[in-house]
Amino acid sequence: MMYDLAIIGAGPAGLMAAKTAAAQGGNVILLEKFNTVSAVSRACCQQFVMDENYENENIRVETGKIVFPDNGFSVDYDGPLHNITDTWFISPKGHAVHFSYPDKHAIAVKFDKGYLLQSMLDDCIAAGVEYRNSTLAYSTKDLGNHVELHIMHNGSSSKVQARKLIAADGVNSRTVESLGFNKDRMHFATALCIIYSLEGVEGFEPTAMKWHMGLAYGSYAPVIIDPSLEGRHIADLVVMGSAQQKPEDIFKAFTTTGPLADRYKSATIRKRTGCTVKAYNSLMVPHRGNVLVIGDAAAYVEVEVQGALMCGYHGAYAVCKELNGENGFDDYTGWWQRSFEFNSEEALRVAQGYALVPTYTDDEIDYLFALVEDRVLDGAYGQYKAPKLLWDAILEHREKIAAEKPELYAKFSSNQGMTLGETFQKD
Ligand SMILES: Cc1cc2nc3c(=O)[nH]c(=O)nc-3n(C[C@H](O)[C@H](O)[C@H](O)COP(=O)(O)OP(=O)(O)OC[C@H]3O[C@@H](n4cnc5c(N)ncnc54)[C@H](O)[C@@H]3O)c2cc1C
Repeated sequence: MMYDLAIIGAGPAGLMAAKTAAAQGGNVILLEKFNTVSAVSRACCQQFVMDENYENENIRVETGKIVFPDNGFSVDYDGPLHNITDTWFISPKGHAVHFSYPDKHAIAVKFDKGYLLQSMLDDCIAAGVEYRNSTLAYSTKDLGNHVELHIMHNGSSSKVQARKLIAADGVNSRTVESLGFNKDRMHFATALCIIYSLEGVEGFEPTAMKWHMGLAYGSYAPVIIDPSLEGRHIADLVVMGSAQQKPEDIFKAFTTTGPLADRYKSATIRKRTGCTVKAYNSLMVPHRGNVLVIGDAAAYVEVEVQGALMCGYHGAYAVCKELNGENGFDDYTGWWQRSFEFNSEEALRVAQGYALVPTYTDDEIDYLFALVEDRVLDGAYGQYKAPKLLWDAILEHREKIAAEKPELYAKFSSNQGMTLGETFQKD
């Protein structure tokens, strides 16, 4: 049997693509390696980013649905929601940069990703998508007039043929690698992440997200604490490490010897989820032949769930156009390049704002954060906007820093001109 469209991966991107293409009358098969989509085992903070114009969109969380007004669609969701109204970047000595809106509207909205994915899968099946779970797509060939996938289910292998393929298999995409898309991409780093859901953390604020920055906290990357969907009194501690600096060791240091260790004396672990993230620069042209790559599979680290939904929506229409002999993949590429901040070199440079450690010493981070801790910056969560606001506020004190800390001034003046690639090479 020849399908119109095969999709690898039933994450938010793949499910949205399957549902949209099937609604257009396409004959769609969706392959997912895990048994279920509702139990999220891969680490994810499960928050919608509410920053204005984030990913060229201004999503609204309404009763029973998530609306994407600028992209012209919505997704049904009637699961739990929880607002985060305050974000803090906190230095080793506790100097805190505060982000919040004057009217306290949400900076981010927590949602149940497993619930969302399951309800989208139900919609896919109702729309006629052929869904195969516990099915790994392990090799892909583009044969010119169609694609051929080799799949494995319960230990036995078989083939699937389709006129077009959407690769939506996430950040470590096997499909993208096997089709040679990664050849020209720069691999920055491989991060190991664990999210610990903890009960009994003292001083935990259920509407705040706190980023702890500095080696005193035991990590090069920020250690983040935010509310969990496991319950109002449960906190999620997000730890990002590497093969050299294991997340388990960071967790131990943060909770037993770091500046906040006292607050974790009685904390117990309720749950943990983990993942490996290979960070490449994004695929600027995410298609070749009969294959379109969408969502995290084509991104610099992550598109977030809302971005993945948008990729799925536009990816499905792109395939429908291609099947009708039109140039849908180029239309998608234009939209992809315009919509995601990581597709601009400037934005990647801004992302260095998070890469404070080890470029800056703990004393320097204390000094810089103390300069701006008496004001509230606009609520911001996005990977690019929040560090930009932080650095814009710090640089208002440029002359004071140059006079008081010439070595620090020289350091960040040179860092301002660096690209993200140079940052990682330097580290
Ligand atoms: C620590 C961390 C925190 C995060 N926090 C947030 C957050 O707060 N908010 C937010 O919106 N996003 C967050 N993200 C990002 C978010 O999880 C992703 O951007 C989003 O899920 C990407 O969707 P996707 O559909 O492209 O890929 P994925 O969600 O990764 O889905 C890919 C799917 O493909 C399947 N698959 C993979 N390979 C194969 C194969 N060979 N054969 C068959 N199936 C396969 C996988 O099992 C998976 O179901 C976070 C990510 C991390 C790592």
